[in-house]
Amino acid sequence: MFSGLKQKFQKICNQFTNKAKELFGYSVIDEKVLKELERLLITADTGVKTTRLIINQLKNEVKQGSIKEGKELKDALANQLENLLETVKEDAASIYLLVGINGSGKTTCAGKLAYRLKKQGKRVLMIAADTFRAAAQEQLNTWAEKIGVAIELGNPGQDPAAVVFKGMQRFKDEDFDVVIIDTAGRLQTKSNLMRELEKIKRVAEKQVPNMKFCTLLTVDAMLGQNSLEQARIFNESTKLDGVILTKMDGTGKGGIVFAISQELGVPIYYLSLGEQLDEFEWFVPRDFVSAILD
Ligand code: GDP
Repeated sequence: MFSGLKQKFQKICNQFTNKAKELFGYSVIDEKVLKELERLLITADTGVKTTRLIINQLKNEVKQGSIKEGKELKDALANQLENLLETVKEDAASIYLLVGINGSGKTTCAGKLAYRLKKQGKRVLMIAADTFRAAAQEQLNTWAEKIGVAIELGNPGQDPAAVVFKGMQRFKDEDFDVVIIDTAGRLQTKSNLMRELEKIKRVAEKQVPNMKFCTLLTVDAMLGQNSLEQARIFNESTKLDGVILTKMDGTGKGGIVFAISQELGVPIYYLSLGEQLDEFEWFVPRDFVSAILD
């Protein structure tokens, strides 16, 4: 992953990386150094629970004598951070359902994903099932035109499942490879959200029962620990396959990646790092950890 984006990523994590480097330069690792590392992880949005888990493990290793100096601390931390992240393979699904609250970057990611899949040679159809927000139809349509992929549009206020029904028929009839469904992002009561999403899923799965379905949650990384709370609500409402962390370019805090993976148990699939179509990367834990620690 990364290439040019690796540099971009290193830039946004600069503060963390520089401070961490200082700690890795110590010749003796003691309680004081671990306390500093703890503070650093909390500041980077890793969250209290996940940070505690990491620090306790490191404390044990210091006690056992396997971490004595900075270099060993760095290696142990890299190992631990990597272990917190699940490595998944980008084996493309046929049906992508994008969920998330308004403003989290869902529609933008629908466009970015369509662009990425099209570049891989796939015939892509987008379904604009966010009929709640009028602008969402227009926004997705603009992406579809820009990227040059097909789109099924709905009308304001229309039952989103009806738009999905029509779109899925088109998906079958016109022999597309992939369909990306953009959904409404209002966080109403949990039960409404669940009902709406489940209905959309049911309608789609009924038409193509044997195809691989992938539900992705877009989470705004700039919201820090609040984003974790939102993710939790969605995770309880619908079965998530993965998370797309958006606006990573605006946070400079990579820790949210670990908090979400650890506390939700849902893998990170993609990182969105800007408003351009290609500022969207498949998440590779090892590369990510090395980008923030090296
Ligand atoms: P939705 O309501 O969840 O569909 O969110 P949108 O896709 O409309 O995105 C909300 C705003 O965030 C828009 O202004 C996007 O341009 C912006 N945005 C989305 N993803 C990113 C990102 O990765 N980085 C930055 N900087 N802005 C983003």
